Amino acid sequence: MVAQLTRQRLLASPCEFSEVDAVLAQYSVTPLPGPAAVADFALARIRELALEETFFVVDLGMAARLHACFVGALPRVTPFYAVKCMPEPGLLRMLAALGAGFDCASAAELTAVLGMGVPPSRIIYAHPVKPPAQVRWAAESGVDLTTADTVGELEKLARWHPRTAVLLRIRADDPSASCCLGNKYGAEPIDAFGLLVAARSLGLDIAGVCFHVGSGATNPQAFTAAIASARKVFNMGAGLGFRMRLLDLGGGFVNRPGPDGLPCLGGVPAAINAALDAHFPDGAGVRVIAEPGRFFAEHTGTLLCAVHGKRERAAPNGGRHVDYWISDGIYGNLNGIYYDHLQPVAVPLRVHEPNASPEPTTASSSSLFGPTCDGADVVLSSCVLPELAVGDYVLFPGLGAYSWAGAADFNGFTCRDVRFMHVYS
Ligand SMILES: *Cc1c(COP(=O)(O)O)cnc(C)c1O
Repeated sequence: MVAQLTRQRLLASPCEFSEVDAVLAQYSVTPLPGPAAVADFALARIRELALEETFFVVDLGMAARLHACFVGALPRVTPFYAVKCMPEPGLLRMLAALGAGFDCASAAELTAVLGMGVPPSRIIYAHPVKPPAQVRWAAESGVDLTTADTVGELEKLARWHPRTAVLLRIRADDPSASCCLGNKYGAEPIDAFGLLVAARSLGLDIAGVCFHVGSGATNPQAFTAAIASARKVFNMGAGLGFRMRLLDLGGGFVNRPGPDGLPCLGGVPAAINAALDAHFPDGAGVRVIAEPGRFFAEHTGTLLCAVHGKRERAAPNGGRHVDYWISDGIYGNLNGIYYDHLQPVAVPLRVHEPNASPEPTTASSSSLFGPTCDGADVVLSSCVLPELAVGDYVLFPGLGAYSWAGAADFNGFTCRDVRFMHVYS
């Protein structure tokens, strides 16, 4: 049944059906009629397994639709999924089966992806400043594509991995991005020529240019400007004798689903496709890749947290306020509140009232606290929730990106060691 669903939904995508089927079988994926069925699925599993802990539902059907959306909207761009965003093995395997490449930033991420059988040719070691030991490790593992934006890094590569192809990372910030990266990475345009000259004297192979407009970018013009800057650096590189052949658009893509719930990249693809046509016309021998992380992970993951404590108190306005303690918080899978501007939306799941009406009669002003002893561990200081009991759950949709990836086990609450349940909507 799952295999049949897959074939129907992915008919437009040139993926290997047998590989996708193998992933669905390996993770005993449950087929769902649509993404909205995740809540009912979660509730059924909580009751059936008497769950009391945090878990994730990972929707591999959503991942497949996001992949089809990306390659459909950007036909010249091969996505290399940024592993750091959500390194969950089921998602990685699904994207590998769909034909994506991978952006790895550390030896551990490289090990995970190589261990799945992904060939090094589908991997970019996309960290501009790498520990020397990890550069040596990449060289031994045959990972021969990386990035750099300083003379020091070029010298490191020349010493420890002289045959690697290198993309020069240039700075191309979108001021509207929710997480800026240009403060740390990306050569200023004025420094690009000096870096190319240094690379040439070191005998390195500069293969092209990469950039990252910032995570959670919304301004299509940031890509237009970045691709134009990349063209200038391509021309400089070609003038110095480099075989400039690879353009990497980095990450920053955001899924903005339409009213039909289908994935959508907003105005970004039109801007990218036009800029590619203008500066890197098809047939000119330049391959284009990108490193989307958030785009693939965000709406693929749903976080479920158990309510494990409750207190009532008088609200300042005289009404009633309920505080709930839940199984995860800002040190765990909700660390995006702190690091990623996350504004979580809590959906109540009343585990112990199977016949509860969908419109609960008593909704109260509420807070959701994380499990640790830190007073700062607050998930939502003010929200409106129906009456919940210890043992009920709250569901957080769109929590796949930069959540588990950065979770810690502070205070002994083991937020990293969570269960993943795989579905296919
Ligand atoms: C984090 C990162 C990405 C992924 O960014 P998203 O905004 O999640 O798409 C891609 N490339 C590099 C180099 C990164 O550091």
